[in-house]
Amino acid sequence: MTMLTADYHVHSISPDAGVPMEEMCESAIQKGMDEIAFTDHYEFYAHGVVKEYFHEEYLKQYWRSLEMCREKFEGRLVIRRGLEIGQMHLCPENAFAVISKYSFDFIIGSLHKIENVDVSQMEYTERTMPHIAEAYYRHLIRLSEVGEFDCLGHLDLIKRHSVKNGLPDYYDKYEKEITRVLRNLVARGKGIEINTSGIRQGTGESMPALKTVRLFAQLGGTVVTVGSDAHRPEDVGADFHEAEKLLKEAGFKEVTRFERRRGLPVKI
Ligand SMILES: [Zn+2]
Ligand SMILES: [Zn+2]
Repeated sequence: MTMLTADYHVHSISPDAGVPMEEMCESAIQKGMDEIAFTDHYEFYAHGVVKEYFHEEYLKQYWRSLEMCREKFEGRLVIRRGLEIGQMHLCPENAFAVISKYSFDFIIGSLHKIENVDVSQMEYTERTMPHIAEAYYRHLIRLSEVGEFDCLGHLDLIKRHSVKNGLPDYYDKYEKEITRVLRNLVARGKGIEINTSGIRQGTGESMPALKTVRLFAQLGGTVVTVGSDAHRPEDVGADFHEAEKLLKEAGFKEVTRFERRRGLPVKI
């Protein structure tokens, strides 16, 4: 049994998930979790592009589902109200407006898109990789400088795609950029998440993996959450044993839970 009993990255009504929130909650309880944070997507785009999916009605519906589940599962499962915001560095004011309109418990800041193209849709070859990675880390550095999130989501997301396409994870090549991102987070009191979806989706390791998590600890980082990034009930809490092992190897003795954006350290 793992000491990690809070899954801080769970999707439900996001356009790429579409699973009733109750099913995710039931699965969490079955898997021995005592707390989950729903972190459905809210994406921002470059060049003033606005996508019709991410609007006020979506947020209202999301909030209603959250409140309904919080009531239904009271006493059995703590349900945190989170959001995974993509590219908030492109429109910090709009992102701030969304965040401040609702009393979220927890915000993940992620980078999914470069110039409005999802990183999962790009072509990964030895020729394209340096360009993708340069742009990815340039945006990630900016996000780590200005993003009003609590934890940075799946820090080295492009690794998932490079490794899937038979290329290396390029950690050594981009260690300088990764270090800069981590330093920004430490200076701003922000955290990282250990996103376990990488383990089940191709790279065999979490995002980020041990080297980065250890470096974060060495640089003075203290805020860490663990999330499955589940889009299906069966993936809630997936591979948390491995995440626990990794955190301990990296020197962490606590993870952080959040209530109304305030971090609550919990021993592991
Ligand atoms: Zn994400
Ligand atoms: Zn996610």
